[in-house]
Amino acid sequence: MALLFKGGEQLYNEALDAVGRKDYSTARKKFTDANEKGYGKDGLALAYAAIIDVGSNRSNVGAYQKLADRLATLNVGSIKFGLTDIDVQDMIAECELAIKEIQASMMSDSAYMEKGNQLIAVAGEYMGRIGEKNLKLDEIFKGNTMATGNREALILQAQGYAVLGKGHVLTDPKMASEYMQMAYNFRRQLGDSGEEEYRLSQNYARSARCWICGRPASGEGIHFQSIKADIDPVFSNMSKDEIVKPVSEDSQRIYICNPCFSGISNRSDDIAREYYNEAIRELRATELRLQAEINSLRFSVNMRR
Ligand SMILES: [Zn+2]
Repeated sequence: MALLFKGGEQLYNEALDAVGRKDYSTARKKFTDANEKGYGKDGLALAYAAIIDVGSNRSNVGAYQKLADRLATLNVGSIKFGLTDIDVQDMIAECELAIKEIQASMMSDSAYMEKGNQLIAVAGEYMGRIGEKNLKLDEIFKGNTMATGNREALILQAQGYAVLGKGHVLTDPKMASEYMQMAYNFRRQLGDSGEEEYRLSQNYARSARCWICGRPASGEGIHFQSIKADIDPVFSNMSKDEIVKPVSEDSQRIYICNPCFSGISNRSDDIAREYYNEAIRELRATELRLQAEINSLRFSVNMRR
């Protein structure tokens, strides 16, 4: 029952202790209780509660907006949350950029021009508004002191150019390859291998001639496929002087454009399905015949008893 008689100041101080212990759900409750008892410290208690709400759902646009609004009501320039010193204006910027980042990330990949350009635009804002300074929410909730505005910008640029690359591949594989190469460069700057981006950039750039119809195509795995085949030198030699070949360097595979490839695949699926249906029909017939024989045997055994 003692709890009921706690004053606002006591609750507020207990909330700060809970933040120190990283017991954020307790801290949140005590901050709001303190505020209700008239000890809101000029909006600070609710601002702290809003920080905790962002921490418990880092992809919630509404939580960031509420935090930015709460911070804007404070009449101090900096606050302290646990061990982290926070510049109020910087954290407002962090919230606004997080909102833009989430909204850009949630756009459909099919709107690749808008999405890619938006991600890249948000990257520019991270560089301009946060730059080398730390992202405090990552520091508080992930213990990550490596996250800076500039680093977030690299991540967003890698994502943005990858979206543009994957989008352009259907219409312009060469352009797609260049975008993928840029995404790869940003990944490398982040210290990642960028393996996936590199592979796609190479694949998009690769050109081949279709073994079957002779049409040229760019974009391996997208506009043409490579298929294992038996290719004797007599065949591979035929295209040895061509720049765009229908056969792989090691003469182990032929290239087939996607229209030819899908046409053949669909037809062979149809044939396979016919065989399957026929096999099932025969199986059923055999089953019925055997069942009839079992019945007749059973009948004769019963007759002998
Ligand atoms: Zn073809």
